[in-house]
Amino acid sequence: MRILITGGAGFIGSSFVHYVLEEHEVDEIVTLDALTYAGSKDNLDGALDHPRHQFVKGDIRDQELVTDLIKDVDAVVNFAAESHVDRSIEGAKPFVETNVRGTQTLLDAANDAGVDRFLQISTDEVYGQILDGKFSEDDALNPRNPYAATKASADLLARSFQTTHGLPVLITRTSNNFGPRQHPEKLIPKFIQNAAAGKLLPVYGDGSNVREWIYVEDNCRALDLVLRKGEIGEVYNIGSHAEKTNLEVTEAILDTVGVSNDLIEFVEDRAGHDQRYALKTEKIEALGWEPQYSFEEGLERTVDYYLD
Ligand code: NAD
Repeated sequence: MRILITGGAGFIGSSFVHYVLEEHEVDEIVTLDALTYAGSKDNLDGALDHPRHQFVKGDIRDQELVTDLIKDVDAVVNFAAESHVDRSIEGAKPFVETNVRGTQTLLDAANDAGVDRFLQISTDEVYGQILDGKFSEDDALNPRNPYAATKASADLLARSFQTTHGLPVLITRTSNNFGPRQHPEKLIPKFIQNAAAGKLLPVYGDGSNVREWIYVEDNCRALDLVLRKGEIGEVYNIGSHAEKTNLEVTEAILDTVGVSNDLIEFVEDRAGHDQRYALKTEKIEALGWEPQYSFEEGLERTVDYYLD
């Protein structure tokens, strides 16, 4: 299979590039990434000069470039996105541009070229918050921040291309990822680096917001499974059931780095901060997937990576 991976110089995309090159001996990859502040070629260390990998610096909104790249591939995996909720609260425009218009550009090109699979990387945030129970793939989308709203738009747009044009679309909605190569603006890498430097760890509100944390390698295995074995037109939740409050995550980081809880600082809550996300995962489990890393194992690996 020849795969176009967009956003492959970012956190999850780069892990996926490494994963596919290691796991699938004949697959070829074209990575398309605009190298925004969030992307780095360093994330592709070891993959950049791989004989089955080609890196292209470019924007998913560039119709000519995207059309040219897609005509030679069997599958598209669209990771490229503006991904930081706080930035989307400061300004939604780049989120609409990349997450919505960029996805539309890719869908048009994939439809014209007739690719075999189009995997749209969505998120648990499209469902909005849930105080009790867990979301299943059939639940309505109720995004509550600009990032999530643009991801929900892309998710729905991709599904509409399947129903109206017959484009072979698959959607994954994964919970919060953590692991190596994540940008230090995100909670876990930021807190590890602050803890190691003896700086305060700013926890939003009272720290009671709950997220389900999945180690990035577990997510990549699930995404790869959906890409190859998923049923066209279906949505797959991917979650670990490792639910933690932000305060629990913060304390676990301090404990793993080996510094005192005195570094915790409670700061004004994020506007529209969703209280809890949680996913039902029977569909991805039916494909033969389960997480291999506990939260604690994943965190130890992640702390080792950042302290290195
Ligand atoms: P990231 O911010 O680390 O990486 C995004 C990548 O996309 C960067 O390399 C960036 O340069 C690239 N990019 C941005 N705009 C682009 C454009 N217009 N054209 C081409 N490339 C562009 O993000 P991430 O955390 O790796 O997330 C990857 C995907 O997974 C996103 O679609 C995100 O919504 C989704 N997701 C992330 C999480 C998570 O916990 N991180 C959870 C669920 C879903």
